[in-house]
Amino acid sequence: MVRPLLLATRSEGKLRELRPLFAEHSIEVVDLRDIGVVESPVEDTLETHSTFDENALAKARYFHSLTGRATVADDSGLVVPALDGRPGVMSKRWSGRTDLAGQALDDENNRLLLRSLENAHDRSAHYVCAAAYVDERREIVCRGEAHGKILDAALGDGGFGYDPYFLSTELGRTFGEVSAAEKARVSHRARAFAALIHRLGPG
Ligand code: IMP
Repeated sequence: MVRPLLLATRSEGKLRELRPLFAEHSIEVVDLRDIGVVESPVEDTLETHSTFDENALAKARYFHSLTGRATVADDSGLVVPALDGRPGVMSKRWSGRTDLAGQALDDENNRLLLRSLENAHDRSAHYVCAAAYVDERREIVCRGEAHGKILDAALGDGGFGYDPYFLSTELGRTFGEVSAAEKARVSHRARAFAALIHRLGPG
C-alpha cells in the first residue's frame, strides 16, 4: 500500500485548495497536523531564498527529512510589475507585522498593497506558485501563474490573502468573489500542482 503523501503547509487556505486537487487524482494525502508534526521556529528560517522554486524545495526537503514521507510543499506570492515585482517571495510577511496571523495579517498586507499602488497607472499583477515534491529518489518543482489586476476596493470575501483585490483576467471576477471550484480552474496553485501531479505519473 502506498503511504499517503504529506502536504507540508500550515496555511488553512492552501490546504482547502490542495486537498480537492489530490482527491481528484485519487492521491491520498495527510497534512502536518494529521501526523502530529508540531510547529517549530525552524520553519520560519526555510523561506529565506530569493525565488519561489528554492523556497518550495527548501520546505519540501525539510519536512521530508523530518518525517521520511514523500512530501509536497509550495511557495507562492503576488508579483506586481509596477512595484518592481514586490511583494513576490515576501507576500506573506510584506507588512512586517510578525505579531499578526490569518485575516489580520492579510488585512495589513492588503492595506500596504493599496497604498503602494495609489499613484500607479499599471495595476497588472500575477500570482506565482512553485510546487515542490521530494522523496528519497526524486526532487521535482513545477510552476503555475494566474494573471489579473489589482482593484482599489475589495470585491467578495472568499479565498484568502490578496484574493478580494485580485481581478482575474480569465474569470472577469476577483478571486474573492468566485467559488473554490472556479478559482481552481485558473489558479496558480492549481496549475502548479496539476503539472506536478502529471510529472509524478501513475502510482
Ligand atoms: P507562502 O506561504 O510563503 O507561500 O506565502 C504565500 C502568501 O502569498 C500568502 O500568505 C498570500 O499573502 C499570498 N498568496 C499566495 N497565493 C495566494 C492566493 O491564492 N490567494 C491570495 N493570496 C495568495
